[in-house]
Amino acid sequence: MALKQLRRKSLAARRRLREAHMFAKALSSPRHPILAHIIPTRRCNLACGYCNEYDQHSEPIPTDEMFRRIDKLGELGATMIHLSGGEPLLHPDVDKIIARIREQGALAGTITNGFLLGPKIIKRLNGAGLDHLQISIDNLKPDDVSMKSLKTLDKKLQTLAELAEFRVNINSVVGNYMESPEDALVIAGRARELGFTGTVGIIHDGDGQLRPLDERPKQVFHDVKELSKSVFSFASHSNFQENMVKGLPNDWHCRAGSRYVYVCEDGLVHYCSQHRGTPGIPLTEYTLEDLERAYGAVKGCAPYCTVGCVHRISWLDDLRESPLTALQQMFPAKNGDWSRRDLPVPVRLLAWMFIPRNGGKPGMFTRVAERLLKAR
Ligand code: SF4
Ligand code: SF4
Repeated sequence: MALKQLRRKSLAARRRLREAHMFAKALSSPRHPILAHIIPTRRCNLACGYCNEYDQHSEPIPTDEMFRRIDKLGELGATMIHLSGGEPLLHPDVDKIIARIREQGALAGTITNGFLLGPKIIKRLNGAGLDHLQISIDNLKPDDVSMKSLKTLDKKLQTLAELAEFRVNINSVVGNYMESPEDALVIAGRARELGFTGTVGIIHDGDGQLRPLDERPKQVFHDVKELSKSVFSFASHSNFQENMVKGLPNDWHCRAGSRYVYVCEDGLVHYCSQHRGTPGIPLTEYTLEDLERAYGAVKGCAPYCTVGCVHRISWLDDLRESPLTALQQMFPAKNGDWSRRDLPVPVRLLAWMFIPRNGGKPGMFTRVAERLLKAR
């Protein structure tokens, strides 16, 4: 038991170092994707009522083709490559695909509905070197819209807590049409109990529009955020959601197609899962010029965009370009005047290492830290 804990701690420490490298690389250059989502199969074993990202018949993408796509993402310099779907665990070689991502030096992640998780697959994912796994849980008991409930998945979560050597995040959702928005709070609490991180998202109303949250879901949203605060996770800090809760637009520059890329089952690059078709260029032909063009492109869908991972990735460029403004926006002052003491400890450390005070040039310590992190 003690050996197992020691191994987990050592793997987590190495992962944190590789994550710090990812941050350092993102902050030192805008010329590579920070995060890529890639689809190993469009097929899903569930059929959630709100989902437009699955079918029930597609074959898995041949493994050699997945390897070629991952190698190309590696050539473009992608620092995190996450599998999405459909249900990625339906791919028979999911572990080999994860291992290929790690061979490219990227952090490897997957999204899953969790239904196929069991000791065997968890051990295969451990062996492949998976870094992050995210499960979305929609409710406490399954209903007509979603089977992804805590009741159905709790045993799987316990097995994960016992065996997984990778980080697990449980995402719950709130929205106006939900009968019991309080479910999200129970799910986030259970995630913490099992040693996982918990995040919360906002879902559209039944007609696909994002509206200001009513009082009950708004309260739950803030309660879940409060619960996640003591466990630092980049994903739990998402100031853009505060505006979404109020139904207000966000003023930001979406860097999709550049710092974030979405590679569909046909091997085409799209801005994101919600903006498919643009630019629609085959990944094999995607170049630095394409990355640069998409970096500067203004997306009309940005003000009311709900795609959290792209908001967070794009924020890293704000941080690179105007560090203090970006930090103050993401971590507002708690009492009166803003100070670096308002930052969570890991962010304060990164800010101390990489962001010179008073807008000066990076000092010797920054240059040494960058070199060490790049050496990994
Ligand atoms: S499990 Fe995920 S991919 Fe499958 S239908 Fe539900 S939301 Fe869509
Ligand atoms: S603004 Fe949002 S929806 Fe539009 S391209 Fe960017 S991530 Fe996609």
